[in-house]
Amino acid sequence: MADEFDVVVIGAGPAGYPAAIRAAQNGLTVACIDEWQNRDGSPAFGGTCLNAGCIPSKALLESTELFHRAQTEFTAHGISTKSLSMDIAAMQKRKGSIVRGMTGGIAALFKAAGVQGLHGHGRLLPGQRVELTARDGSRRELAARHVVLAPGSVPMELRSAPFDGQRIVDSWGALDLEAVPKRLGVIGAGVIGLELGSVWRRVGAEVVVLEALPDFLAMADQQLATEALRHLRRQGLDIRLGSRVDGATIQGEAVAVSYTDAAGAAQSLTVDRLVVAIGRRPYTKDLLAEGTGVELDERGCIRVDGQCRTGAGSVWAVGDCVRGPMLAHKGKEEGVMVADLIAGRYAEVNYRTIPSVIYTAPEIAWVGQTEEQVKAGGRPYKVGSFPFAASGRARAMEAGIGFAKLIAARDDDEILGVHIVGPFAGELIAEAVLAMEYSASSEDLQRTIHAHPTLSEALHEAALAADKRAIDMPNR
Ligand code: FAD
Ligand code: AMP
Repeated sequence: MADEFDVVVIGAGPAGYPAAIRAAQNGLTVACIDEWQNRDGSPAFGGTCLNAGCIPSKALLESTELFHRAQTEFTAHGISTKSLSMDIAAMQKRKGSIVRGMTGGIAALFKAAGVQGLHGHGRLLPGQRVELTARDGSRRELAARHVVLAPGSVPMELRSAPFDGQRIVDSWGALDLEAVPKRLGVIGAGVIGLELGSVWRRVGAEVVVLEALPDFLAMADQQLATEALRHLRRQGLDIRLGSRVDGATIQGEAVAVSYTDAAGAAQSLTVDRLVVAIGRRPYTKDLLAEGTGVELDERGCIRVDGQCRTGAGSVWAVGDCVRGPMLAHKGKEEGVMVADLIAGRYAEVNYRTIPSVIYTAPEIAWVGQTEEQVKAGGRPYKVGSFPFAASGRARAMEAGIGFAKLIAARDDDEILGVHIVGPFAGELIAEAVLAMEYSASSEDLQRTIHAHPTLSEALHEAALAADKRAIDMPNR
């Protein structure tokens, strides 16, 4: 006899665990299965995000940014730091304790919400049944009215540069380095490559980032990307665009990387560690038994409709395993939406207002369309920008670099996109997301009072600048 639940969720990452908690809040009986194992073999909820992604990367970015600022900014404040040093073991210990606290927090949230958190492997069987294989190999079957698949994603491997876990590592390996490599190679100047490259650069590694595409951050507004590239290069990140890696081999203690540069010439590079950060792919290994009716698309994503239904009975899929950006907050909203739809409530995800944030220094954040996309769409538009160099608060923080840029439609003034590179861009973008969620016009932002002196005034002034009405800078 199978254990019965209203909802069984497979995967307890940022897509799966919110689905489980919301379903329980909706009065449903819920089990959430997760197979994550830490390097020491211990199980943990939270998925990639909490164990090997968003949270540990932000812990290391914070530590190393403080170190870097102490080296480069403190003198301007009159603070002398005669002998500054970085204890990598202490930094990693701090990261570990943050991760443990956060993943333990999910177990506590499950308990409080009445969700049965189960460690083990989940496999969907036909007819909304799930086979759970526990860590000791024992099996049991769960029956559910609804199943939510949230198995996430894993790093993509470059066949010509296979991971060895020591010298050629994925993002998890790059988060766990125990010492600063003298020479670090990073393949891929995407979000993950830039964040990890920044971490190790700030504590002294010589970092070369090889990016196949000719454009930097091709998915971002190119004015934003150009500004970000300038600052990242100034910090010493050697970002080589148009450089496609063809292979890497371990030679003694080093890694020899071969690549084709922007001019088509064969190049080589020797590094002590190589991080492969060329993207992630949906993880569906041993997830689907024969005959479930759940389909994968050509990229390996679980095929779903706009409300995350797979089309196979009452089976849903959310997060990195389905189409759309691989972001924790996108998965969370999908998980919550599905749990509400299952309970018969109204729910939707507005895919047009998913913010993107890159936690480098300066931070890079945007929401909505880039100027290139708006231009290609043909709708007449106006742009307002405001530099942080003209922000009193940014100057007081010794952070007067970058800008806020707002794009609005010429016809009805609707905000179409907001792009920020500068201090706390990842926090500032929330105002733009809210404005766009409410279909605000640039005039709505212009008439909203922003406290002085704050960084958020930059967005206010950018909105004013779209109509050439900025106060704190000349209008052009
Ligand atoms: P996951 O977090 O991958 O969770 C899936 C879980 O399901 C895992 O625990 C997995 O073990 C488990 N699982 C899979 N299959 C089964 C099965 N059959 N049975 C049982 N369990 C199973 N995103 C952001 O939004 N902001 C960031 O700052 C950010 N930084 C990142 C930094 C790094 C270094 C990396 C690698 C990623 C980062 N991401 C960030 C991306 C983010 O981590 C993912 O988008 C997010 O974790 C996806 O959530 P998910 O729940 O879909 O999948
Ligand atoms: P993201 O998808 O944001 O994680 O970024 C991954 C980046 O890796 C993309 O910008 C790709 O263009 C880049 N990339 C993929 N394969 C290679 C390769 N062989 N050499 C260099 N860059 C690559």
